[in-house]
Amino acid sequence: MLEVEGLASAYGRIQVLHGVDFHVKRGEIVTIVGSNGAGKTTLLRALSGVQPVLAGRIRLKGQVIESMAAHQRVRRGMAQVPEGRHVFAPLSVHDNLVLGGWTRPAARRQERLDFAYGLFPALAQRRHQMAGSLSGGQQQMLAIGRALMSEPELLLLDEPSMGLAPVLVDQIFALLPTLKAAGLTILLVEQNAYAALAAADRGYVMETGRIVAGGPAEELLHDPSVREAYLGLAEEAPLLGERAVA
Ligand code: ATP
Repeated sequence: MLEVEGLASAYGRIQVLHGVDFHVKRGEIVTIVGSNGAGKTTLLRALSGVQPVLAGRIRLKGQVIESMAAHQRVRRGMAQVPEGRHVFAPLSVHDNLVLGGWTRPAARRQERLDFAYGLFPALAQRRHQMAGSLSGGQQQMLAIGRALMSEPELLLLDEPSMGLAPVLVDQIFALLPTLKAAGLTILLVEQNAYAALAAADRGYVMETGRIVAGGPAEELLHDPSVREAYLGLAEEAPLLGERAVA
């Protein structure tokens, strides 16, 4: 679905991505975890076309896209849920969703709206409410629903747990298997490494603009260096599930 090779990006003269290599297979949930400032958001923005690329190659379904405009990438099946949600605050929930579907024929709109409202009944109840008046969790749902309106094959999710209460974080992560079952491929970047790795098939660890480790998510969850650096767990400490079993 996605192949990234040697991707480099900078803000002015400050380079923040230094040759990023990774891939995502169709149907996978892949997460990139890493601490604050590692470059995760910059990477997703470079993939979706809103952050310039200095060097490297991005292939979406085999097609080279790194010099394509962001809106062309959406048409080719990629949609981004940005960090901080960025819903259109003065517009209604309904209008936010409709805007997300701008690449699709009008005849598909109702089906996409039904899909989004089916996933998020709280949004259906508030369809005429201003997006800016929603809670943080509802705004996150709206940002995901808006991205799904374009019928993406690859969903880029940036830090969906940011600023949410634990119960809402659980709800957002519980949604991922549903999206996968609906045929989506998901690339998730997260500081909440435990929740992200627990939900993913594979993971990568990013540090200062480079991928420094990668593998099945289950293996990363048990990797002593990942546990210590990103999960806040000592090597021998049990993970939550293990503790429950014990
Ligand atoms: P976070 O989880 O905090 O978003 P991140 O891993 O997503 O962290 P980025 O936001 O991609 O990291 O930031 C990578 C580096 O680029 C950081 O050093 C950050 O300070 C810098 N940076 C990010 N945005 C800009 C910008 N608009 N101008 C200049 N530097 C930036």
